[in-house]
Amino acid sequence: KLYNQVQDLKGNIRVYCRVRPFLGDQQSHNSSVSNVEEGSISILTPFKYSKEEKKTFNFNRAFGPSATQAEVFSDMQPLVRSVLDGYNVCIFAYGQTGSGKTHTMSGPDELNEETIGVNYRALRDLFLLSEQRKDIISYDISVQMLEIYNEQVRDLLTIDEIRNSSQNGINVPEASLIPVSSTSDVISLMNLGHKNRAVGSTAMNDRSSRSHSCLTVHVQGKYSTSGTTIRGSMHLVDLAGSERADKSEARGDRLKEAQHINKSLSALGDVIASLASKNAHVPYRNSKLTQLLQDSLGGQAKTLMFVHISPELEALGETLSTLKFAERVS
Ligand code: ADP
Ligand code: MG
Repeated sequence: KLYNQVQDLKGNIRVYCRVRPFLGDQQSHNSSVSNVEEGSISILTPFKYSKEEKKTFNFNRAFGPSATQAEVFSDMQPLVRSVLDGYNVCIFAYGQTGSGKTHTMSGPDELNEETIGVNYRALRDLFLLSEQRKDIISYDISVQMLEIYNEQVRDLLTIDEIRNSSQNGINVPEASLIPVSSTSDVISLMNLGHKNRAVGSTAMNDRSSRSHSCLTVHVQGKYSTSGTTIRGSMHLVDLAGSERADKSEARGDRLKEAQHINKSLSALGDVIASLASKNAHVPYRNSKLTQLLQDSLGGQAKTLMFVHISPELEALGETLSTLKFAERVS
């Protein structure tokens, strides 16, 4: 309860940032990140980008390269738990390809107790808390997994393309909604989802960085005394890579993909920015992603935009554009 009051003071939109560590034998390279505090990140900016030597960006929470998966999750835990109180929550992982979005949300290829990501930790925590509350309220939890690629929505828990999604946009009633009651149910569904995602990538590899993937958790609770029900939902979204397509290289299918990604990421930015500035008109209709999440963005819903940046100097241009996106939506 206290948590919700505190969050209400902050507003329903919060922005986090995580800097990934250097990978492999890159440790000796110079980093574009000069300092990480609890609520800010400072970037070294060469003259080309700014007259200042250093630019500091503020966040509700910032994580440096040594932050563990457990630390990251523990900051998000109250938000996740509010789903069981009937809130709708959206968590977005944003950033260029290679910046660590999938690492945060799903974890690396080698999964163990330490490396598992937010998706798994969130579901595990919901099971734990619902068990603790079971005498007062009984919960049904179910999940959906969708992919949005080139503005087409695909159900990852079957292999079928979702029909009619281009006509009615908002709801995807045909998407499989699967009841889950344990973390092992969740693991097998996530594995199925990943396998299905791979099926779509035969035509073009690494499709995962050019599509959005969304794990949705639906929760329904029923109070044992009154019989009253409450509903909450949580969308855990691993967004397509935010990098600008190389203009000289992007042609044909690549160009089309890049245009769809630009369009949906800027539509998402527009929606969150207009919610953050409390505009009366929120432009949900401009992309499949925002249409799909319309009911869970705005109103009482809680949104976490979790931006990711790479530390390499070569990535500075993309890093600054990611940080500008974050500034815009906060
Ligand atoms: P994205 O999904 O944004 O394209 P990934 O999550 O696939 O990026 O990360 C790229 C690589 O960096 C992967 O090998 C991943 O395991 C590694 N990585 C990302 N973030 C971290 C981190 N915080 N700690 C250790 N390795 C990381
Ligand atoms: Mg990824």
